[in-house]
Amino acid sequence: MMNEQEIRPSGSNSRQTNSKRGHLFIISAPSGGGKTTLSKAVLNRFKDIIYSISYTTRSPRNSEQDGVDYYFIPKKDFEERIKSGLWAEWAKVHGNYYGTSAELLEKGLASGRDMLLDIDVQGTIQILGKYPDSITIFIMPPSLETLGKRLEMRRTESRTTIKRRLLTAEKEMTQKDLYRYIIVNDQLSASIEELVAIIEKYRYPNKHEK
Ligand code: 5GP
Repeated sequence: MMNEQEIRPSGSNSRQTNSKRGHLFIISAPSGGGKTTLSKAVLNRFKDIIYSISYTTRSPRNSEQDGVDYYFIPKKDFEERIKSGLWAEWAKVHGNYYGTSAELLEKGLASGRDMLLDIDVQGTIQILGKYPDSITIFIMPPSLETLGKRLEMRRTESRTTIKRRLLTAEKEMTQKDLYRYIIVNDQLSASIEELVAIIEKYRYPNKHEK
């Protein structure tokens, strides 16, 4: 389990004395649901939001870079960090481990910065247990058929992997009601505006009280 005392940034104020903590935005979507594109658009719009770079044991795809898209680490290291309680949340997705560093997450929030997490449903449930005020957003593909087509067009996965991802997607979609907001990603530009509006609502509450 995460020990809060240990993850407070050394030398800085504690949770109680820091006047303004950052908001924690969580985006989940079945693989191929357009979440990466949406996250990038949000980060482009709000330059001061910190994107939480996850750790994973899966291999990098095409243009993915270590320390930018993910921190790619060996399975052994990941499992050691589970034992040491260093994850804010972790999950096994499609046979690989994925996790969020408890220390990086807490440091970002304690410094007052808003953070964006792009994690799956299992991870969201764990984060909600620790940070119940998280603003959770589920991105739905218009249909499983569309999702299958998008995954095929990406040409990064084999047929077996695509099948596996579609099965996970179906399962994840049954859990969408755990989320505070649901966006059906039919038209990308409209989805970006919906997402931006949700984020603005929390960052600039006065603007929305008119
Ligand atoms: P991909 O391999 O396509 O990049 O990601 C597969 C799934 O893992 C996606 O649903 C993504 O949201 C999820 N994921 C990525 N990073 C994390 C993480 O740190 N924790 C959890 N729980 N899921 C993650």
